[in-house]
Amino acid sequence: MLDVKNLKKHYIMKGAAPVEALRGINLTIGDTGMVFILGKSGSGKSTLLHILGGLDTPTEGEIILEGKSTKDFTPRDWDDYRNRYVGFVFQEYNLLAEFSVKENIGLALQLQGEKPTPSRIAEALARVELEGLESRNPTQLSGGQKQRVAIARALIKKPKIIFADEPTGALDNATGNAILSLLKELSSEQLVIVVSHDREFAETYGDRVIEIADGLIVADRMIAHS
Ligand code: ADP
Ligand code: MG
Repeated sequence: MLDVKNLKKHYIMKGAAPVEALRGINLTIGDTGMVFILGKSGSGKSTLLHILGGLDTPTEGEIILEGKSTKDFTPRDWDDYRNRYVGFVFQEYNLLAEFSVKENIGLALQLQGEKPTPSRIAEALARVELEGLESRNPTQLSGGQKQRVAIARALIKKPKIIFADEPTGALDNATGNAILSLLKELSSEQLVIVVSHDREFAETYGDRVIEIADGLIVADRMIAHS
């Protein structure tokens, strides 16, 4: 369970007015399910996701994670959170081109201080339906396959939360649907938070759609699927 309290983020730049990217976000999110954060470009979606994932810090406010406030997090707590608790999937995949698929996935485990065994890597690849592609280089994969590798890299850590920032933004519609179906499947076991500007995707796959505009939540609905 994730409790977000009065989160604000101001970007201060020399010689320019500060940008108030988040202006007071309050939110409670449960342990499983697929939650979409929907909003136009520049509305603050990525800023919110980065702060929730521990990649950036808020100007004001806090997150309560399993009862502990991020205000009391030590640098070690933040490292643990990023390396063990959460997994990230980005629009541009963020795979390392000079490493093989298995090395890209294995690195995530090494950051946790664990040894990436061939069987664990094979298991992660099987969950994203990419059996046998361990030795490929990312440059030899399609966009959809790259995104599946990125999901496997997140999954191998057995994270409690998967954060995905516009995971279908670089993919064609059919491939995008396949990636969201896969994330939806995973969301029965862990929380999946997806940032998107695509209302149709959000309403098709989301259990809950939180709309954000100009740094504030303007709508928050559960979606009933028949
Ligand atoms: P979204 O992901 O919804 O497109 P962002 O969270 O990336 O929106 O950006 C929200 C606002 O904050 C925008 O006005 C953007 O220009 C600004 N912003 C984002 N990152 C930075 C940064 N590192 N420095 C300054 N301004 C930023
Ligand atoms: Mg963004």
